Amino acid sequence: MDRFIATKKIGDTLIIEGEELQHIFAKRIKVGQELELFFEDKLYLCLLEKLTPKGAFCIVIKELELTAPLPFITLYQCVPVELRTMDFVVEKVSEVGAYRLVPTLSKRSFQNITAINKRMERWKRVALSAFKQCKRPRPLEIAPLAKLEELKADADLNLLLDNFGGEKSLKDLNLNGLKTVSLVVGPEGGFTKQESELLRKRGFIPVKLYPYILRSETAALLGVGLIMNLSTPS
Ligand code: SAH
Repeated sequence: MDRFIATKKIGDTLIIEGEELQHIFAKRIKVGQELELFFEDKLYLCLLEKLTPKGAFCIVIKELELTAPLPFITLYQCVPVELRTMDFVVEKVSEVGAYRLVPTLSKRSFQNITAINKRMERWKRVALSAFKQCKRPRPLEIAPLAKLEELKADADLNLLLDNFGGEKSLKDLNLNGLKTVSLVVGPEGGFTKQESELLRKRGFIPVKLYPYILRSETAALLGVGLIMNLSTPS
């Protein structure tokens, strides 16, 4: 079923306007068709009742309470120096099933906090667009910026993707019955030795993905995708 973002809710009617309305026309959606509409963090099953050049008016049939699949993966992605690479990370980890993305500052990450914060709105838009396309129950949550040295190993399983010192493979870990997983991925230049040691001391397990050195965005997408597919909820 097609999914759209509503701009307004009046009583039991959700309204789609502006750019999103253009998607309704582009997809040739017709009056009488059922749609999934997202509005203020909720997803609704609706029926398109009226379509005008100003708006699509949809009656709410019911709220859809979809639950997100386990485990809930929080990806701590060190912000790539090539900032637009993060757009790719947001889109791809949305598709493969990350729950939350925490843009993270590290020694070799992009450093300009103002520029990163300016980019947050864009990442939220990318997350919404991926949510529409891949039919996840809710958009990837984009959390405020964090600092690598402040990360805590507070999930059921805490992993550090490390192409240098990662002795373990994902196959060596017990991925069953996990509710929460934290995954830390370095920027293009990787972690410094101190950063990698600090995270290990804090309880993050260093893991190496087989067989080559990956780009940061590839590591993030593969790491999240493998964990989602190999773990079995209890
Ligand atoms: N410049 C570094 C590569 C960094 S790759 C070098 O020369 O080695 C960027 C990040 O992607 C790394 O910090 C790590 O988090 C992740 N990564 C890349 N390949 C990986 C692999 N094979 N296993 C685990 N993590 C990997």
